[in-house]
Amino acid sequence: MSNIRVIVVGACGKMGLEVVKAVSAADGMELVAAVDLINLGEDIGTIASIGPLGVEVQRDLVEAIKRSKAQVLVDFTRPDAIMANLRAAVPMGVAAVVGTTGLEEAHLAELRTLSAKSGAPIFIAPNFAIGAVLMMQFAQQAVRHFDYAEVIEFHHEKKIDAPSGTALRTAELMRAAAGGRLAEQGMPELGEDSRGMPVGHIRVHAVRLPGTVANQEVIFGGLGQTLTIRHDTINRESFMPGVTLAIRKVRGLEGVVVGLEQIM
Ligand code: NAD
Repeated sequence: MSNIRVIVVGACGKMGLEVVKAVSAADGMELVAAVDLINLGEDIGTIASIGPLGVEVQRDLVEAIKRSKAQVLVDFTRPDAIMANLRAAVPMGVAAVVGTTGLEEAHLAELRTLSAKSGAPIFIAPNFAIGAVLMMQFAQQAVRHFDYAEVIEFHHEKKIDAPSGTALRTAELMRAAAGGRLAEQGMPELGEDSRGMPVGHIRVHAVRLPGTVANQEVIFGGLGQTLTIRHDTINRESFMPGVTLAIRKVRGLEGVVVGLEQIM
């Protein structure tokens, strides 16, 4: 079977460079194009420190897709860039694997229409790390047995959105699984601002510090006990088995599919 032809958008970013390395090392796929706003004309393999790949960084996504005949696009850019990228690529019939966070319900609705029109599937994962997916599943299980729950996420200081897509998705899945069980939290008379963002009755807190990559705690409280489920991302390689799995599976999906658990 021929290799899956992959284009990486945001290729020079922290995640993009990991994807470039992972795709180059994986069986059955091939990096055919790299798009970014920086390092234009440079070989992406050299930038990723794996030696020249013969793939130059380009700025124009549509041109890059046409020239490379890419079949699967992987996007790790920015919340304010992802929709424009998908509006350009999906109508060209390219299946998309989206790691960029910050997509809202209105965006998903538009993506469903785009995907239906072109027939190109779109896979979105707020978190490609298997441990994070398990954390979300365990949290949905635990929430049925506790009255109180809060989420604290920790990310590096340059992350531009807060709270993280993972924290929001965790809280939303927990809210659905709780079936009304969670107690409404009484607010303090003073200092409500420091109580985090409400997702139903769950409060979500975002910490931004250098030295962290992506970490999250889900904490439950009940009579005389607490339960903490914690996931730590040590480095960005943790996301790559999930990304390469998505590259392999995305063309077999239909429409817009959200969450790594859907393809594991
Ligand atoms: P980064 O800032 O290091 O990299 C982003 C790259 O995208 C940069 O090189 C930038 O030049 C490029 N870029 C920006 N706009 C672009 C455009 N319009 N076209 C092409 N390239 C463009 O950021 P990062 O840490 O690599 O994270 C990227 C995204 O991935 C963020 O949204 C982050 O939250 C998300 N993320 C998701 C996961 C996951 O598992 N889903 C994990 C980590 C990070």
